[in-house]
Amino acid sequence: NSGLMQGKRGVILGVANNRSIAWGIAKACHAAGAELAFTYQGDALKKRVEPLAAEIGGLVLGHCDVTDAATIDAVFAVLKEKWGKIDFLVHAIAYGEQLEGRYVDTTQENFSKSMLISCYSFTAVAQRAEKLMTDGGSLITLSYYGAEKWMPHYNVMGVAKAALEASVRYLAADLGEKNIRVNAISAGPIKTLAASGIGDFRYILKWNETNAPMRRNVSTEDVGGSALYFLSDLSRGVTGEVHHVDSGYHVLGMKRPDAPDI
Ligand code: NAD
Repeated sequence: NSGLMQGKRGVILGVANNRSIAWGIAKACHAAGAELAFTYQGDALKKRVEPLAAEIGGLVLGHCDVTDAATIDAVFAVLKEKWGKIDFLVHAIAYGEQLEGRYVDTTQENFSKSMLISCYSFTAVAQRAEKLMTDGGSLITLSYYGAEKWMPHYNVMGVAKAALEASVRYLAADLGEKNIRVNAISAGPIKTLAASGIGDFRYILKWNETNAPMRRNVSTEDVGGSALYFLSDLSRGVTGEVHHVDSGYHVLGMKRPDAPDI
C-alpha cells in the first residue's frame, strides 16, 4: 500500500470480469489505499462483480444500466446514503454495434444507442458525481485512438469516442471551479469482453504490438498505473486531458519499415 489514495473513496463503473480495464484500475486504487464501490449491469455480471469486489473489500451499489436513468439515480442514492461524499469516479463503459464493415452503413438506431451508452453516460454520471464531490474530485473515462484516426471496424465507436473526448473538455471547463477534474485515458487495444465485438481484433493487437515504439501491447495493470495518477492528488493541476497509454503507438505516422509482416 503506497498510501497515495489513503482516505479516498471512489466509484468504479464498468467491471464485467477480471479482464476488464475497470478491474485493472480498481486493483491499482485498492493497492494505493482507496475504498471502492462498484456497480454491475444485470444479473449475469452481478455474479462476476460481487466476488471481485469482495476480494478487495469493496462495496457493491447495485445494478446500473446507463440507458435507464432511474438505475443511475438508484446507485448514486446508495452511494450518498453509505458514504455521503466521494473523491473519484471511473467510467469504463462502452457499447456499439456494426463493428465490422463500413461506417457509412451505420443505422440511426445504432448511432443513437452507441452515443447514449458510450458518450452521454459519462456526462450523466458526472452530473450525479458533482453533487457528491463536495471536497473536489477526479473523474476519468476510457477512450481509444479510433476517436482521432480511422481504425478498421471501429466505426460508430470511433465517432462516439470523439464525442466522449470532446465532452471531457467541456466537463473539465464546467467543473474546474469546484476543483473537480475530468480526464480521459486513451488505452491501446486490450483483449476484453467489449473488444471481442470488434472485427479482426487479433490483427489489431498484433499490428500494435509490432509497430508501437515499445514493441508490446499494454495491460489493464498499465492502464491502472496511469489511472492512479489521474485519480490521486499527483495530477492536481491537470484537467481536460486525453492521455495515451498505448506503448507510444499514437506517435506513429506509418508502419515501421522493420516491423515483421503479420
Ligand atoms: P469490458 O467488456 O470489460 O467493459 C465494458 C463495460 O461496459 C462492461 O462492464 C459492461 O457492463 C459496460 N456496459 C456496456 N453497456 C452498458 C450499459 N448500458 N450500462 C452500464 N454498463 C454498460 O471491456 P473494456 O475493454 O474493459 O471496456 C472498458 C472501457 O475501455 C470502454 O469504454 C472501452 O471502449 C474502453 N477501451 C477499451 C479498449 C480495449 O481494447 N479493450 C481500448 C481503449 C478503450
